[in-house]
Amino acid sequence: MAKVITCPCGWNVRSDSDDELVRQVEAHAKEVHSQSPKREEILGVPRPEQRRRPER
Ligand SMILES: [Zn+2]
Repeated sequence: MAKVITCPCGWNVRSDSDDELVRQVEAHAKEVHSQSPKREEILGVPRPEQRRRPER
């Protein structure tokens, strides 16, 4: 089943493959936001000790 990941800026990517999603999001984040999100952040795994801030 395909997953969709939407960036806070409105950009989104859709793929069956987690690896492909991570690649696409990494490229987008780097190019557009100058960020390097971790794989867990991209795939939305809960990380209680470090919550994401949508505005940064
Ligand atoms: Zn974005």
